[in-house]
Amino acid sequence: MSFVEGASYIRPMDISYIINHLGEERENYFGAVAPPIIQTSNFAFKDVASLRQAFTDEKNTSVYSRGTNPTVDMLCKKIAALAGADDALVFASGTAALAAAIMANVKAGSHVVCVNNPYSWTSNLLQKFLPKFGVEHTMIDGTDAQNYAKAAKCNTSLFILESPNSLSFQLQDIKAIVAIAKERGIATMIDNTYCTSLGQRCIEMGIDIEVHSASKYYSGHSDVVAGFVISSKQIIERMFHAELMNVGAIISPQNAWLLLRGLRTLPMRLDRIKKTTEEVVAFMKAHPLVEKVTYPFDESFPQHALAKEQMLWCGGLFNILLKAKDVDTVERFCDSLKHFLMAVSWGGHESLVIPACSFYSKDYTGERVHPYNLIRFYIGLEDADFLTADLKQALAKIE
Ligand SMILES: *Cc1c(COP(=O)(O)O)cnc(C)c1O
Repeated sequence: MSFVEGASYIRPMDISYIINHLGEERENYFGAVAPPIIQTSNFAFKDVASLRQAFTDEKNTSVYSRGTNPTVDMLCKKIAALAGADDALVFASGTAALAAAIMANVKAGSHVVCVNNPYSWTSNLLQKFLPKFGVEHTMIDGTDAQNYAKAAKCNTSLFILESPNSLSFQLQDIKAIVAIAKERGIATMIDNTYCTSLGQRCIEMGIDIEVHSASKYYSGHSDVVAGFVISSKQIIERMFHAELMNVGAIISPQNAWLLLRGLRTLPMRLDRIKKTTEEVVAFMKAHPLVEKVTYPFDESFPQHALAKEQMLWCGGLFNILLKAKDVDTVERFCDSLKHFLMAVSWGGHESLVIPACSFYSKDYTGERVHPYNLIRFYIGLEDADFLTADLKQALAKIE
């Protein structure tokens, strides 16, 4: 796999072992190659002594599926190993995973420093939800690591990173921010959905908690909503007994099984997506109706050196600014695309398009976070030629 060649810490052999064998005890289920979906709420014990014993260690014993379930547990083992971490928890959505990881690191009176414009529901949690419990925050421009140091106060308990951002693609210097946090005894968490654990080794760069929306690349088939929290044994054990068991935002065994299936092809999907995206990006850069392309591994990207330093892989997302005189032209282009589905999310088999002008009403004249002619693309598993031909015909419609 080309994208892990430069990484000394995780070898392709390890990835193959983790994905195909780790945590799978086939002798316990008739030698079945595919793991069973243990669709049960509770687990029975043979006597009082074993029930009593189970109560002392619910994290490592199947008692009730709100806590532990063997199908989910297999997934936890694999995703933790892929990230180079001790342990992991799986949640019902990426948003539940983010909320749990943030809540685990604050109490009344705490302060959080978070990168500007994080995922919308991270933002909502910090701005609308946590203030009810006396937790305050500061949003900063994360392109300068020193802004984390400047915003830190004596009650700061958590730094939140999201690198790259999935719409602006801005990066944070992970190692520099970890160093600032460690000096001050502040916990760090990152939303690593954009790169996956294979594409960006956050735990090895010193991040305490890595969070993912598994609905994206891990699932890979646009049929599951789920989230991961990956961290040390101590943090995961603590979060198991608090945020996981108490909020109860757990994944079903069926969805955990779909994620196990998605994992089997994760490295090859990532590899394929990278190659196709590079071809499509090159096509767009060369087209006269495209004003600008934003893609972290492109040399024109403002933080290109940092991207190459801390990311092993750059995903299927990129933005363009279309040379379009008005919103109508942007709409005409997007509506002319036949093979890019117009939808939120990303990370699946299908290529997607989402224009920033859809975030505002048609007659909106106020300030915009993203320009009217910004369009985000996601490249899936189709052939590059199939996609560029579609882009070409849609661009011809606005000439
Ligand atoms: C999709 C996404 C989330 C939220 O995940 P859900 O599984 O949809 O709840 C969080 N962060 C990023 C960067 C995302 O793309």
